[in-house]
Amino acid sequence: MNKMRCALLHPSSFILHPFMKCEILSIGSELTTGQNLDTNSQWLSLRLAEIGIAVAWHTTVADDLQDNIDAFRIATQRAQLVLATGGLGPTLDDLTREVVAKVAGVELVFDEPSFEHIKQLFEKRNRQMPERNRVQAYFPAGAEVVPNPYGTAPGFCIAVCGSALGNSPASAKPQAVIFAMPGVPSEMYAMYHEQVKPRLLKLGFGGGVQIQRKINTFGTGESHIEEKLFDLTRRGHVPEVGITASDATISLRIFARAANIAEAQAQIAPVEATIRERLGKLVYGVDDEELQHAVLRLLGEKRKTLATAESITGGRVADRLVEVPGASVWFHGGIVAYDNRVKVEQLGVPQAILDAHGAVSAQVAEAMAVGCRERLKTDIAVSTTGIAGPGGATPTKPVGLAFVGVAWEGGVSSTSFTWAGTRMEIQSRTAKQALNAVRLKLLEMP
Ligand code: AMP
Ligand code: MG
Repeated sequence: MNKMRCALLHPSSFILHPFMKCEILSIGSELTTGQNLDTNSQWLSLRLAEIGIAVAWHTTVADDLQDNIDAFRIATQRAQLVLATGGLGPTLDDLTREVVAKVAGVELVFDEPSFEHIKQLFEKRNRQMPERNRVQAYFPAGAEVVPNPYGTAPGFCIAVCGSALGNSPASAKPQAVIFAMPGVPSEMYAMYHEQVKPRLLKLGFGGGVQIQRKINTFGTGESHIEEKLFDLTRRGHVPEVGITASDATISLRIFARAANIAEAQAQIAPVEATIRERLGKLVYGVDDEELQHAVLRLLGEKRKTLATAESITGGRVADRLVEVPGASVWFHGGIVAYDNRVKVEQLGVPQAILDAHGAVSAQVAEAMAVGCRERLKTDIAVSTTGIAGPGGATPTKPVGLAFVGVAWEGGVSSTSFTWAGTRMEIQSRTAKQALNAVRLKLLEMP
């Protein structure tokens, strides 16, 4: 093992790569087995973005010695900053101290002040310290102890140099900095804010901010959106624009990195304006806004009331609407008309229309909306009917076919779409289709 010590962690000793990359390493078999969800990576990535550090990799590794050594080797070779969480406990499966010492090419050394702190924690709780906890006071030689006031597992940071990583020509210059933090989320959050973030800034990592703005659209496919924005989504565009699709909602994420928030916002604003101009009514909201927020905002602006008549969605449209605080002012109620008898008796859908066109048809969707609006006495009513599957398809009506009707004073219209997906996805997407139809109608209204 190479015993050459790396220069101590000091800003001047660490040459920042012009394209600094960061990796987050989550350690624990409870994560890789799927028992627990790795929320630390998500949380850390969001915090790092706030100080302008972009994360290139999330890696999750089980509590296995060799797998951890490999994971740390790979991370320190490709990233200049490695933030690890987990594996700092007192038990045999907590390997991070040993692993990092091996990867850095140094021995583990005992730290008296850390040991005192651990002993005191047990004394405060009136408990005898198990002998096993002593291992938590060992650190890779050359590491700086990062205290943990809220738990027994102290963290540490250490610079790993090229020579320890087996690079040639051997270099004693630090190649990567590792921060090891506890896995327990509350302890990690406190350690990050109080100890790690100030050190990162002192070492010259980050600087500036990274913010993102999400523009949400509904009503067309990902490739159609990309076609309209290909000059913005191309690689290397500043700010970066990415497209993500989630349950038929297509979102554009604008990422900006700049010295401060104002500069980052100034990068985003013209790009957002271009996106809005090109996509027009397809854009319904930003960031965490869903279609129901847009619908309720417009109902309020135009002072219109709404009711729902749902077949295929079984109440999902109403369910989404009532998620929004204050929905009761504009959303008056709904009827779940699953069976044809309910469509006839509760919504007044003429039996002749059902017989002539079938329940899944534009005519029935429109009759449901008209009947609902009359009976619930609202300005607008929206209806859904369709085939959620997996059974029920006919040669002319495939699984996923859905009709949405919208009725208002003096008119009614309908749209149809054939959704792909599971039963749940078809129902959820049809509910969004219904909310979107209401939104588009409201946009036309005075
Ligand atoms: P450890 O520090 O490895 O002993 O982890 C202690 C506990 O923290 C685990 O039992 C998990 O419940 C939790 N934990 C560890 N890593 C993570 C992670 N990446 N995300 C969320 N919770 C975690
Ligand atoms: Mg663990």
